Amino acid sequence: MKILINDGLSNEGINLLKDSGFEVVETRVAQSQLINFINTHKIDILIVRSATKIKKELINSCPSIKVIGRAGVGMDNIDVTYAKSQGITVLNTPEASSRSVAELVFAHLLGGARFLHGSNRNMPLEGDSNFKTFKKYYSRGQELQGKILGIIGLGRIGKEVAKIAFGLGMRVIATAPEDGYSSVTLSFQDNQKITLDVTILPFDEILKQSNFITLHVPAQEKPLIGEKEISTMKNGVGIINTSRGGVVEEKALLNGIESGKILFAGLDVYENEPNPSIHTLMNPEISLTPHIGGSTIEAQSRIGIELASKIISCLKETPQNH
Ligand code: NAD
Repeated sequence: MKILINDGLSNEGINLLKDSGFEVVETRVAQSQLINFINTHKIDILIVRSATKIKKELINSCPSIKVIGRAGVGMDNIDVTYAKSQGITVLNTPEASSRSVAELVFAHLLGGARFLHGSNRNMPLEGDSNFKTFKKYYSRGQELQGKILGIIGLGRIGKEVAKIAFGLGMRVIATAPEDGYSSVTLSFQDNQKITLDVTILPFDEILKQSNFITLHVPAQEKPLIGEKEISTMKNGVGIINTSRGGVVEEKALLNGIESGKILFAGLDVYENEPNPSIHTLMNPEISLTPHIGGSTIEAQSRIGIELASKIISCLKETPQNH
């Protein structure tokens, strides 16, 4: 069977597919040429990231396609419901980037607690003339050990966050998980493992009790965190959002920072991507990253392996296709 990898895939994933006997075509076909290319080369499986759009017209025009693989999580670029209605299998890799997102949460959290976002902005400008002032100002940092981390959304990423937090000696509270499992297993060297329970509390209690709050929910119809929710939080709270833009209302966040209620925030996602508000970008108390949570070398490698494995096992179940 022929696979077109149109937006790239890790070598580990490509090798797995080749070793399983698939013919792999690695190229970057422009969107306007895609239908023609798929039909000319009789492509059976189309692997994309987020750049290639797979909508109804392409699905209708390319009857050879049996499987669509999304190397990553979000499937906004694929008309999943229509593809499935046409008997096409649609696969993605939701597990592969959880650890990468969780580690970015702590990059923002550890940085925020020690004012690295501010220090990194100010030291290049005035570090030589204002060293002592900065030293005094940035000496009010805090440790994470012993602090309460509130996780809103204890799913795949939320659980990875909980593991790291336990490792740092934090107390972890979270909203109820969908799958009912609220314990996490930490793995150490020499195959040592320890399983710990995350304390599950109602949403309002998470807001009230946490020193730091991190969000790991899917896109919501309206913000989960706005003025009202912020007003119930502890003074000096730190908020991290790596989930979806709009889950935290940015205006309310900026007002919370302005009033001193919120000490710092870390954002990887924005209400208006890819053109975030200049007020958010310029706020000195926000640590900023351009939606890179799931994007690490390790995650790319795992994405390739996870997708290739899913394609191989899915086609094993339907051997007539292989
Ligand atoms: P998941 O489906 O495994 O977990 C989501 C959890 O949120 C579930 O347990 C669900 O019960 C819970 N939830 C949903 N609505 C809730 C609510 N209103 N209150 C409390 N809990 C609620 O998802 P995941 O893989 O952990 O991903 C979480 C988020 O991270 C998603 O929005 C995803 O798009 C985002 N994400 C971001 C990046 C990045 O690069 N920053 C990368 C991957 C995923």
